[in-house]
Amino acid sequence: MKFNQFVIIGLGRFGSSLGRELINLGYEVLGVDRDEEKVQELSNILTHAVVADATEEEVLRSVGARNFDCGVVAIGDDIQASILATILLKELGVKKVVAKAVSDLHGRVLERMGVDRIIYPERDMGVRVAHQLVSPNLLDYIELSKNYTIAELAVPNCWSGKSLEDVNPRGRFGCSIVAINKPKGMIIAPMAEDVLAQDDVMVVIGTNDQIEQFQQSIT
Ligand code: ADP
Repeated sequence: MKFNQFVIIGLGRFGSSLGRELINLGYEVLGVDRDEEKVQELSNILTHAVVADATEEEVLRSVGARNFDCGVVAIGDDIQASILATILLKELGVKKVVAKAVSDLHGRVLERMGVDRIIYPERDMGVRVAHQLVSPNLLDYIELSKNYTIAELAVPNCWSGKSLEDVNPRGRFGCSIVAINKPKGMIIAPMAEDVLAQDDVMVVIGTNDQIEQFQQSIT
């Protein structure tokens, strides 16, 4: 399902960055925060921004929260407020509710409440940065499941001019290059004879172990 309208509860660092980016991407965003200053800061950026306490049911009703496709509870430190706002959004019938958690326990409570997606911004970013620090060629990755990953890897200088057949990740490690992102455009499902160049990025799919071994062969 594609969502067009978002309500964000809590315009702290995470909520405000999320709101700005959704606006850049062309979506409608209602921001709610009890802190007038935060609302003021974003009032010219978001579609609407209102000063309100999101733990009060009447308040959420009056701002029309129920009409939004997706609600994001971006309150962190005040766990009680995060839980109350989350329950209210769900009870009002918001189709998808996403919430930020600041600890494992907070996340477990949100999970039991049936939140559609729980985000741990600091924890997830820490994990991501750790992977990138130990593997300089790793630009980004997506965990498809516990065992499978898609990784974006920079092509090392010594591979410039080599074909996929020369590099042979499937034969050597079992993972596959599913795309090559070149400055001129993307080659999807590249052929064995396609050649890598220095500024290219390889998009690789495989098990975590296969991708790790492939990365180690680069560094
Ligand atoms: P971050 O780490 O992303 O900055 P914070 O937890 O510090 O997250 O900020 C959350 C925001 O949520 C703050 O701007 C705060 O004013 C707002 N907030 C907290 N409780 C409520 C509430 N009951 N109703 C509306 N906004 C709230």
